[in-house]
Amino acid sequence: MIKQYFADLHIHVGMSESGKWIKIPTSRRLTVREILKEAANRKGMNIVGIVDALSPLVLADIKRLTEEGLLTAVNGGGYIYKEKTLLILGAEIETREPGGGLAHTLVFVPDIQTMAAFSAYMSQFIRNISLSSQNAHMPLQQLVNIASNFDALIIPAHVFTPHKSVYGVCCERLAHILSDKEMGQLAAIELGLSADSDMADRIGELAGYTFITNSDAHSLDKIAREYNIFALYELSFKEVAWALSRTAGREVKGNYGLNPRLGKYHRTFCTGCGFIDTGGLMEHCCPECNSNSLVKGVFDRVNEIADYPEPHHPLHRPHYFYQIPLEFIPGLGKKIKDKLLDEFETEMNIVHYASHTELTKVAGTKIADFIMSARAGTAAIAAGGGGTYGRLLKI
Ligand SMILES: [Zn+2]
Ligand SMILES: [Zn+2]
Repeated sequence: MIKQYFADLHIHVGMSESGKWIKIPTSRRLTVREILKEAANRKGMNIVGIVDALSPLVLADIKRLTEEGLLTAVNGGGYIYKEKTLLILGAEIETREPGGGLAHTLVFVPDIQTMAAFSAYMSQFIRNISLSSQNAHMPLQQLVNIASNFDALIIPAHVFTPHKSVYGVCCERLAHILSDKEMGQLAAIELGLSADSDMADRIGELAGYTFITNSDAHSLDKIAREYNIFALYELSFKEVAWALSRTAGREVKGNYGLNPRLGKYHRTFCTGCGFIDTGGLMEHCCPECNSNSLVKGVFDRVNEIADYPEPHHPLHRPHYFYQIPLEFIPGLGKKIKDKLLDEFETEMNIVHYASHTELTKVAGTKIADFIMSARAGTAAIAAGGGGTYGRLLKI
């Protein structure tokens, strides 16, 4: 029987259990073990993708967890944590186009052995294979061809962000940097925090792809700030792959993402004075300080390269739900969050299922009102930009 699973496929490891940094700056608590604990027990995620498994240090930690019996290999690929959450092994890799544009891509493989082989192969191109999201000194095209030899799911990451992404800085069309065959080898497209499917479906070449929405968490509390609902028969890497290719009834049923207006790169901003251009007027220089060091907002970039003025959703496209993580709810600090978790077990239960009455009992009317309006998609939002997140306005 098809069941629904919550999935966040882009989570970073900060440190190995041997105490070596994988990604700086992150928290010392951000080990594979702690990520699994937080994602499975508190967030309520059923599928978790860890994207620093190219690092032999991370891979060694994952191997140790299997030896301890905390993780068990699944037949169709991936590892089950405590009989409830599937871990899939991924790598976030940076590529460079001949024009200099950098992009991040997620590469997922079925098991430790395959990731070890992929990592060993990539280590001839990557200077420090132990660190997160390293540059592979090759264009995306080459990475796609290499990863395809490793049974990999290849997914361009946060595709519109202004610093490191395919549409942000590498190209206006994937077809300009990949052949038809290589485009067919991409398993999905990750939208990123400042974009939604309305924005992405203004680009015609994306119609055939499944979109995914992930947290790109660099800390435990950010896990599941974006996530997906996958419809699968059971938890395995193979089922996840089928959902992305929409095979045999498996599919991504829903995308849960930040309202793009809450993203920190929504609108173009000036790095000179911090001016955020909410009118979309700024082209070459800042009207406030005349500086020309502008960072193009995702919204403005999509407008610039779109095929259509309005989204053209293909039939298979699921609904994109604007999700407001608990951390954005004014007045919801650590104490109240812990109380809510004591009562409802996971954030998914708080965000999706707890009733207004139940929430009020634990957290008071004001916070209950916010959670309900966030769930209904009616919360008012001030747009983000300039590297600062947008925020919720009072109801
Ligand atoms: Zn990235
Ligand atoms: Zn990342």
